[in-house]
Amino acid sequence: MTCVTAPVVMQGLAASRQPAIRHERGQRQVFCGLTGIVWLHRKMQDAFFLVVGSRTCAHLLQSAAGVMIFAEPRFGTAIIDERDLAGLADANDELDRAVGDLLARRPDVRLLFLVGSCPSEVIKLDLSRAAARLSATFAPDVRVLHYSGSGIETTFTDGEDACLASLVPGLPAEPLTAAPSLLIVGALPDVVEDQFCRLFAAMGIGPVGFLPPRQSRQLPAVGAQTRFLLAQPFLDATARALEGRGARWLAAPFPFGAEGTTAWLRAAADAWCVDPGRFRQATQASEERARHALARHRAQLAGKRVFFFPDSQLEVPLARFLWRELGVDLIEVGTPYLHRRRHAAEIALLPDDVPIWEGQHLERQLDRCRAAQPDLVVCGLGLANPLEAEGMTTKWSIELVFTPIHGYEQAGDLAALFARPLLRKQRLEV
Ligand code: SF4
Repeated sequence: MTCVTAPVVMQGLAASRQPAIRHERGQRQVFCGLTGIVWLHRKMQDAFFLVVGSRTCAHLLQSAAGVMIFAEPRFGTAIIDERDLAGLADANDELDRAVGDLLARRPDVRLLFLVGSCPSEVIKLDLSRAAARLSATFAPDVRVLHYSGSGIETTFTDGEDACLASLVPGLPAEPLTAAPSLLIVGALPDVVEDQFCRLFAAMGIGPVGFLPPRQSRQLPAVGAQTRFLLAQPFLDATARALEGRGARWLAAPFPFGAEGTTAWLRAAADAWCVDPGRFRQATQASEERARHALARHRAQLAGKRVFFFPDSQLEVPLARFLWRELGVDLIEVGTPYLHRRRHAAEIALLPDDVPIWEGQHLERQLDRCRAAQPDLVVCGLGLANPLEAEGMTTKWSIELVFTPIHGYEQAGDLAALFARPLLRKQRLEV
């Protein structure tokens, strides 16, 4: 491809717009990376996630995933007990036995992730060696990989990043004569993938692959001809691993809302030299449908003052969506980590006076939130109930990860997630 890509520019933007980014460190309130298993195990249908952790880890997963007792979930916990902690048992032997039993019971499993936790990190159980050993034992039927879902210095969406990054070294190399291909990176519901596939096909962009794939045997090839779009803003480690394999990242805002989706698609269209007329033709009807769906929620949300606590790492793109497409007033946008390079297009779209805070000092942030008395607080589950008890209206940020919110067809649903708590409060007040 010789096409020179133009930077994605949205209407009405001053190029110099740059809100200040502040930092704070202190007490944090987030879920750990094990939470990602809840949506990843649904996406990769022949994978199993074996957490090597404690009873606490098992309880977190069981309650977050809400799996019924008679279901056969594709995740479980190998519990590190007192004997392992006291060094009375060889944790590696125990793990090998647990994996052997599991794979004998579940012959449908083709990819096994050993997922590290705080306890496995504390006792320094080397899961990379365990994965290599078990891969050799169970090849070629089962591949065994490992990643960490520990809550030490991470937030819950980092689990997906670590999981996808662990897949990258095993992706097949693209053939030397390969034509350019597009890779969409980030777990998306199948229905959303299908919608994007139709849009790319209408523009003549392809072949299109997805990471993670639905089946572990359908891993996309990667190499210098691969261009990739990030579907989620929290996948920096995966993106760097792909870049290490020669793939090129297409910088763009994230596909939230009508405007974000158009800009994201346009980044691929520019890389494929798609004629602007063809791009409009492919996207116009869907974009109009999305704008129409958003208009229904604008009356509810316009002028509302919204405060983001740092939790999902989706905060900056969602703040952009709420401000630009629904007219909300952003009081504060907190995010646990801000990958500046991956967020540059998003930050440029925010008002220059919005405070963006990277990291968290929970007590100070609560003070700022109480002083501001926002109309809506977007926060983790653990903060929502206490804040509701203080009379505030909240939205659980984890719901934004579990619900399909990407692309044109989901733009209205995304707006509804923010409008609904306000509506509920209104009704209760009547
Ligand atoms: S990995 Fe750590 S933070 Fe997560 S449930 Fe287990 S012990 Fe708790």
